[in-house]
Amino acid sequence: MVTRVVLDLVEAVGRLPVGATVSVPVGAADTDTVAAWCARTGNELVSVTDGQATVRRGHAPEPDLPPGRRPGARLWLYTNFDCNLACDYCCARSSPHTPRRSLGLDRIRQLVDEAAAAGVTEVYLTGGEPFLLPDLDQIAAACAQRLPTTLLTNGMLFRGSRLDMLRRMPRQHLTLQISLDSATPERHDHHRGAGSWQRAFDGIRTALAEGFHVRVAATVAADETGDAEQAAFHGLLDDLGIPREDQVVRPIALRGFADTGVVLTTETLIPEVTVTAEGVYWHPVGADHDDQLVTRDLFPLATAITEIQHRFADYRHRTDAAAQRFHCA
Ligand code: SF4
Repeated sequence: MVTRVVLDLVEAVGRLPVGATVSVPVGAADTDTVAAWCARTGNELVSVTDGQATVRRGHAPEPDLPPGRRPGARLWLYTNFDCNLACDYCCARSSPHTPRRSLGLDRIRQLVDEAAAAGVTEVYLTGGEPFLLPDLDQIAAACAQRLPTTLLTNGMLFRGSRLDMLRRMPRQHLTLQISLDSATPERHDHHRGAGSWQRAFDGIRTALAEGFHVRVAATVAADETGDAEQAAFHGLLDDLGIPREDQVVRPIALRGFADTGVVLTTETLIPEVTVTAEGVYWHPVGADHDDQLVTRDLFPLATAITEIQHRFADYRHRTDAAAQRFHCA
């Protein structure tokens, strides 16, 4: 049960900048509770005298995250929002009718330069379908020159001039993450459209044949994750020589077009800084939703990254809740 003194601490300490102190009234039996709360939340219990506990605000303890998953380590860039598909769970509400809303090569160059200077260690390019952009090869090269880059795609457009564009892309520091939801066409085509599984599968084989590092990601509903389905999916990718660490299975998020899935909010989601043409967002699954908008100002990027880190620390400080890690890649 949350006691009254904990509520007082959350309210009083949550308003403080790091390093400042505040006193809250405590009862004779509250000292252990206050000490335990301070230890758990990264604050310092300075003293308990005359019915007042004095607490200095500290940094909330870091969640149990590897360095590459800490807020600010990854940068997601929505290159565009239009797509050749209109998947029924698309968190970005992408379709052939969605306005492009592209970031453009010049802004992407600047963002990646600033990201590298701000301590970002990885870039993810997503959409929409990035391969609809005629200069995607230049975008991918500009990113991969500065930071290890992963390019998310449905893998269906590797033909004609777009295949030529794929071939011009760097192999160094660039991973292609291709979406494939199931080992056989039925489930994938049910969500993404008839014939899409075969073209995605062909795209995976093309990318491998062209010498790219390929990761495959499945998006699945809660009732689609049976052991037999999982085994068949991994078996198919094993046969292609794709290592298990490059076989990603993630749940559908209740965002965008989806009418079922995991509920994700800024308060419960570990942020991954995400930039679109409209602004900087908390996480890639919320990049088309105002509740996850952090700022409309793309530059300087370091300001937005710092804001997200501070807000994340503040949420954890105030709620002491375990934030949720949601893998998009
Ligand atoms: S989920 Fe991906 S492939 Fe499907 S509509 Fe959205 S952006 Fe396009």
